[in-house]
Amino acid sequence: MTFRVEGVGKRYGSRTGTHWVLRDVDLEIGDGEIVTLVGPSGCGKSTLLAIVAGLTASDEGRVLRDGSPVTGPGPDRAVVFQSASLLPWRTAEGNVAYGMQLQRRESRQSIRARATAALRLVGLEQYGSYYPGQLSGGMQQRVNLARALAAEPALLLMDEPFGALDALTKERMQQELLRIVEPSGQAVLFITHDISEAVFLGDRVLVMGRSPGSVREVVEVPFARPRALEVQEDGTFQRLRHHIRRVLEDLEEDARGGARYGDHPLSGSTPGSVTR
Ligand code: ADP
Repeated sequence: MTFRVEGVGKRYGSRTGTHWVLRDVDLEIGDGEIVTLVGPSGCGKSTLLAIVAGLTASDEGRVLRDGSPVTGPGPDRAVVFQSASLLPWRTAEGNVAYGMQLQRRESRQSIRARATAALRLVGLEQYGSYYPGQLSGGMQQRVNLARALAAEPALLLMDEPFGALDALTKERMQQELLRIVEPSGQAVLFITHDISEAVFLGDRVLVMGRSPGSVREVVEVPFARPRALEVQEDGTFQRLRHHIRRVLEDLEEDARGGARYGDHPLSGSTPGSVTR
């Protein structure tokens, strides 16, 4: 399944008038591809992800799935946010099964089997009967990922999913994600503030700028997947990282030079905070 974003634009109204959060965004995510998205806070990354998810409508352009317009959410796409937001009164398995139960498309047995399989994928098969409060933050985020994987979506939409985890857990989750999507052929659109994470996970890194938000540069990552952590020490990896950082810094310079809408939160992240 191929997802294409064509000329997407999104505007919001405010006291100071209408401003375009996104403009002329084009991107393509093919079968099994991992596309990562970096850019300063407020450049519209989450908005773009929500548009691809079908949760927000665009004001210009369109999103196509194998050539057909996407008009709302669907089982072919699943979203993973930074906060696991699990239901505290449901077990891990109950949380993974919840969405499938709401859809009422399958028998209880089949839902249970899927939930168990998804928990196994994230290494939590022993923890199905645990409640979120009994699990660490990293484990909760695994349950969150299992919840998205259970529906076997063609495209995983991930909005800084590992942003709140400690460094070691984060590295483990990055490797797990690569291990999980490799055989399934699932595609991923992954937002991050962390340039190393973007290069480590991505087949392509899209660098976004703001005012209005759009893709300013596409960086191809030449390493085969799955990748070992050591790839980060490779000279090419370092060069890509530095290059992306430079692009972000240049974009921020430009944005500061000509702030195009007054109510924009410039205080968010600066290019310096984008790197590890
Ligand atoms: P990012 O994910 O890159 O940090 P967002 O997509 O969250 O950026 O937000 C992009 C811009 O759109 C921000 O300036 C934000 O304030 C604005 N924005 C997002 N959602 C709304 C909304 N519902 N109404 C008005 N402005 C919004």
